[in-house]
Amino acid sequence: MEEPFSEEAKEKEKARLLNEFDLKAEKWRMQSANNSCAGAPENWLKCHSVLVKAFRDCDGHTHDDVICGKWRRAPLNIQQFERWECFCAIEWDPCHADCAVPQVWV
Ligand SMILES: [Zn+2]
Repeated sequence: MEEPFSEEAKEKEKARLLNEFDLKAEKWRMQSANNSCAGAPENWLKCHSVLVKAFRDCDGHTHDDVICGKWRRAPLNIQQFERWECFCAIEWDPCHADCAVPQVWV
């Protein structure tokens, strides 16, 4: 009488399962890649808030305006404009709507 699971059958089954797993993993990878593209469309806007006004120090050296210069996430429909500042993000990202909050890197 034959063994219910010969070594050969076991190997075949193992290969079949591994192959099935690979196909599934590939599908998941493609899905998650699609999701990240279609997921949250966003823009990055640069803050032009002047933190320190241009000034002349006691040695007579002039210093330019020091601007915030941080990049903030914004919805795609919000476009960069020259005087865009961190606090403009209050509507969609109140946590980062302040020049004092460090920039997020993704
Ligand atoms: Zn800022």
